[in-house]
Amino acid sequence: MDDIAFVVINNVIRSIDVFYSYVIPKELVDKLKVGMRVHVPFGVSNAKREALVVKIIKDNIDRIKKSEKISRIKKIKDIIDDEPVIDEDMLDIAYKMKEEYICTYYEALSCILPTLCKNKMVKVAYLNKQDEYILDLIESNSVKNIWQIKILQYLLKNRCDRVSDIIKFIGGGKSSINTLRKKGLIEYREENESQFIVNKEDVKKDYAKEPTLEQKIVLDKIIGYIKKDEYTKVLIHGVTGSGKTEVYMRLVEYCISNGKSAIVLVPEIALTPQMVDRFKARFGNNVAVIHSRLSKGERYEQWKLINCGKIKIVVGVRSAIFVPLKNIGIIIIDEEHEVSYKSETTPKYNAKDIAKLRCAKENAVLVYGSATPSIETYYEALTGEINLCTMKNRVNNQNLPCVELIDMRQELDDGNRSIFSYALRENILENIKNGQQTILFLNRRGHSNFMLCRSCGFVIKCIRCNVTMTYHRIEDRLICHYCGYTVKRVSECPKCKSNNIKGFGLGTQKVEEEIKKEFPEASVIRMDLDTTSYKDAHNDILKKFRDENINILIGTQMIAKGHDFPNVTLVGVLAADAMLNSVDFRAEERTFQLLTQVSGRAGRGEKKGKVVIQTYNVDAYSIQTAVTHDYKLYFDKEIKLRKELNYPPFSYIGVLTFSGEDDKEAFNWSKAVKKFIFNLNTKYKLNLDILGPNRAPISKIKNKYRWKLIMKGSNKIYILKTLTRVVDKFYNSKAKNVKLSVDINPVSMQ
Ligand code: ADP
Ligand code: ZN
Ligand code: ZN
Repeated sequence: MDDIAFVVINNVIRSIDVFYSYVIPKELVDKLKVGMRVHVPFGVSNAKREALVVKIIKDNIDRIKKSEKISRIKKIKDIIDDEPVIDEDMLDIAYKMKEEYICTYYEALSCILPTLCKNKMVKVAYLNKQDEYILDLIESNSVKNIWQIKILQYLLKNRCDRVSDIIKFIGGGKSSINTLRKKGLIEYREENESQFIVNKEDVKKDYAKEPTLEQKIVLDKIIGYIKKDEYTKVLIHGVTGSGKTEVYMRLVEYCISNGKSAIVLVPEIALTPQMVDRFKARFGNNVAVIHSRLSKGERYEQWKLINCGKIKIVVGVRSAIFVPLKNIGIIIIDEEHEVSYKSETTPKYNAKDIAKLRCAKENAVLVYGSATPSIETYYEALTGEINLCTMKNRVNNQNLPCVELIDMRQELDDGNRSIFSYALRENILENIKNGQQTILFLNRRGHSNFMLCRSCGFVIKCIRCNVTMTYHRIEDRLICHYCGYTVKRVSECPKCKSNNIKGFGLGTQKVEEEIKKEFPEASVIRMDLDTTSYKDAHNDILKKFRDENINILIGTQMIAKGHDFPNVTLVGVLAADAMLNSVDFRAEERTFQLLTQVSGRAGRGEKKGKVVIQTYNVDAYSIQTAVTHDYKLYFDKEIKLRKELNYPPFSYIGVLTFSGEDDKEAFNWSKAVKKFIFNLNTKYKLNLDILGPNRAPISKIKNKYRWKLIMKGSNKIYILKTLTRVVDKFYNSKAKNVKLSVDINPVSMQ
């Protein structure tokens, strides 16, 4: 009799997200294994669908008895993979993801499975019109999407590139480039992948440094855990520059020399060439680096090398947590407090949770590292759930930089209307004189934050999203940072027609301008999303800053971490409040983290560092404690508040976002769902707090109105079960014009 395969079908809706059985044709029986992808006929139309085999049942007597039934099941068409692409452990983890993040099984599997990359041809885009024509289009305001403009500019500069790469560099998704193609401005052609694989330059070999006493204590402790071969969690709470990365490398080295493998996760922005080079220099070709700018082909090449065991160390961003490494000894999560470990697209997984699952399966050690651990993690460390290792000193025994807090209201009172306080200006001047470098940090790109009419108070907002548009001086355009909608600068108020309309607020471009005005002798370089939209831009800017000893680097959070510039002795934070004024309950936490990280850039070399923080909220405890480098004091205040307000770690949060073009309809759905939850809550005594529906902090994005419901509760299972029922019910109700997205323990509340 026939063998039967149970499969999970790609791209099914929730209500039919179950296992389907198919007969394995005789000629495929020997070849097919669990963990391979196949094509199957599906549904009434027998459409060809991709599926993954999760179980195979060999023929047996019982089955033969049921042969009548079996004869009616359909047959697998063909096999896609030559060998299994996922093992039992990862199948299991995917199943847990389905439950934890309320997605379909295949959505979860898609995070793990390698992207099919059989043909080695890639799509390459090039301009289909004369350069002058394109330039003219951009100038004449006929292209109204900033990503489309950037793609055109990119192609004007680079002539052609892989479509997938362009999308990654520019952002804004596939639609922008497709639209340009539909408009006939660009065209695609197929080219051989190999032509587009970048040459990797060799890095010099580097050897492990003699550990400091503090490093040695931490190393001994963690190596002890690794030896035990048990799932153990560790937090390294070490100040910036305490040599955590060096510890990570030693730990990885230890695992490798004992026949095990290792994953090191870093946040996207910390994955600088500097960081990668350190690992490459130590471990040579035994390291795979995984970042979001890899092409499909490169990604697949790495997947193969890791899967066959040729590579044993993986350094990468959040998606690297899914690599097919076997026999893992350690997973390290650097800067564990970073939000980028949480995915923003379905499934909205948190790489930290996946790391726990993998370590538990492998009896491996999970190491979190941070100078500013998240409240949740530190709380677990205090309760003994996580082992705590502390590193209080910088390697070079340099003191942490001295931090000066400036009250900008006072500056105004004293008649200083500049964006630089007297103290900051003096320090910058002194630094320029001494040939030392300065980093200025501002959490806002663009030139002015918004354009306001002084006559009638009108503020220019994006027509599709309820957010103010940011003025970018260099492009002379207003840009929506949410959807990319853009128009040329207006000189007349659209509402009252007065021409008293001006830019307000401060952006990185404006800062650059001000510096040129106030410090004409200084050399300046700027790093933000706008200056880094071409290949290797990060690298180029940082290298230039370092090699040419540029006086001042201005940047957004991109410059906050990971970099080691020995000649930087001054860091200025222009507006520490930028993040405090958000509705998020993590606003204080983010502020403390960012200020500490930014301050950590000062005084990494021999010379002493200084930090100047400007703010309008001198009393905010997140700012006060960052000034004194007092993590513990900050933690104590924050944890008390969390407890009072029943926020994590004392509760779990489930957020439901309803979005639709019809405001009323979206609102009505959110109200109906609230009622549904309310009834469940009462009936089963779930003890959930249900908040809302409220308009989302950003109440409209891309023409879709957004409403939010928030559930809070101390029992995670209750939250998950309720959310699952809500989502199932919602999908069954076939709400056509309203979309529901769920997020468990979100890292941001927008
Ligand atoms: P962190 O990751 O905690 O910010 P790093 O590991 O980047 O710290 O270390 C800071 C600097 O000190 C780096 O330049 C690194 O090469 C150097 N360093 C780290 N450990 C040692 C050591 N044991 N001996 C000498 N230099 C070290
Ligand atoms: Zn006006
Ligand atoms: Zn917009």
